[in-house]
Amino acid sequence: MNFQQVFGKPPETEASAPGRVNLLGEHTDYNDGFVLPTAIPQSTTVQLGFSSDAQHHFYSENLNEQVSISDINHQPSGFASYIFGCIELLQKAGYTIPPLCVYVNSSVPMGSGLSSSAALEVATLRALRQLLNLPIDDVEIAQFAQQAEIQYAGVQCGIMDQMASSLADTEHILFLDTRTLERRVMPLPEKAEILVIDSGVPRTLVSSGYNQRRAECEEAARSLGVKALRDITDVNVTKILPEPLQRRARHVVTENNRVLEVLQGVTSERFGELMNASHASLRDDYEVSVPALDRLVEILQKTEGVFGARLTGAGFGGASVALVRSGESKGIATHVLEQYNQAGYNGRILVPSLGLSDAA
Ligand code: ADP
Ligand code: MG
Repeated sequence: MNFQQVFGKPPETEASAPGRVNLLGEHTDYNDGFVLPTAIPQSTTVQLGFSSDAQHHFYSENLNEQVSISDINHQPSGFASYIFGCIELLQKAGYTIPPLCVYVNSSVPMGSGLSSSAALEVATLRALRQLLNLPIDDVEIAQFAQQAEIQYAGVQCGIMDQMASSLADTEHILFLDTRTLERRVMPLPEKAEILVIDSGVPRTLVSSGYNQRRAECEEAARSLGVKALRDITDVNVTKILPEPLQRRARHVVTENNRVLEVLQGVTSERFGELMNASHASLRDDYEVSVPALDRLVEILQKTEGVFGARLTGAGFGGASVALVRSGESKGIATHVLEQYNQAGYNGRILVPSLGLSDAA
C-alpha cells in the first residue's frame, strides 16, 4: 500500500534518514568517550499529509499496521510511540503541529542493531521540519529524536544513533565526543566500503552483561579518581586496578585512543588494523564476544580484500562490521558466509543490501 491507498490522497511532503553502523568506539559512550559511526545505504522514508479529522493517523508499510491517536493523553506503544514522541516534543518546544497522516516505509532491518529506530525518528522530524518550515537544525533533530526514544519509546539510549542518522551519510563517518557533543564529519577511509554481516546468533544476556560492564566501568573510574574512564589516556594508569576492572578499563582507554588515532587521519589499512585490535580488546579485555562472532570476525580478517573486522554493537551475539576494498563487499560476503555457515551458523549479509527482496 502507498500513501494514497492508505489515506485517499497524495502526501504533502516526504523525507528520509539512514540507519547506521558503528565502525570504532564500542562500549565507550557510557564512559563519556568517543564513537565513530557511519550511515548505511538502507533508509527510512516518512511521508506526511494533513489529517482531515482531529486525529493523527500513522501507518507502517513494513508492519502493515495503522494506529490512530485521538486522545493525546493516551500515549501509544509500539512503532507509533517513536512518531508520537517526535510530534509531542516539538509541541512542548512551542511548535504547533496539526493532526497528521504519517506513512512509513523502510529498508533498514528492524531490531538488527542498525538503528531502524533512529532512522524512523530522524526521518519523521525531517519531514515535519519540511512540512511546517520549522527552524530546527540537524543537531536539534538528533536531540529531539533521542528524547523521543527515551521519553516515549522507553529506551535509555545515548545520542550516537540519532547523531549518526542525522549528520552522517554513506560516504562520511561521524566522529562524536559523547561528553561534549563535539563532532567532525570525515570521509570514509580511501577506496574502502562497509560490509555488515549478522552472526545469526541472537543477542542474549545483553542487558545483564551490559549493566555489569557499566557498573565495572563506574567502579574503575571511582578507584582511579576520575569522573569517567574517558579521562584516562595513559593505559598504564589502569595497572593499579584489580581484575577484572583492569581489563575493562584497558579496553575503554585503548578503544578511545583508537578512535582518536583515526581523527588524525589514517589509511584504510591502518583503520582496518584498529578495527582488528578493537575486536581483540572486546573479546579478551571486555569479554563481550561469543564464539560465533569470534569465528565470523576471524574468517573476515583472513579474507583477501578485508582491511579489518570486528563485532559491532553491544556484543553477546549480533553483527560484525568490516572495512573492505571498494566494490568487493558482495564477493567477500559470499566467500565468508560460505565458510562461516559451514560450521552450522546462520549468518546473513545486512550491508550492502542485496536488493529489494530483503528490504526490512
Ligand atoms: P534497531 O534500532 O536496532 O533496529 P530497536 O529495537 O531500537 O532496533 O528499534 C526497532 C523498533 O523501531 C521496531 O520494533 C519498531 O517499533 C520501530 N521501527 C523502526 N522502523 C520501523 C518501521 N519502518 N515501521 C514501523 N516501526 C519501525
Ligand atoms: Mg534502536
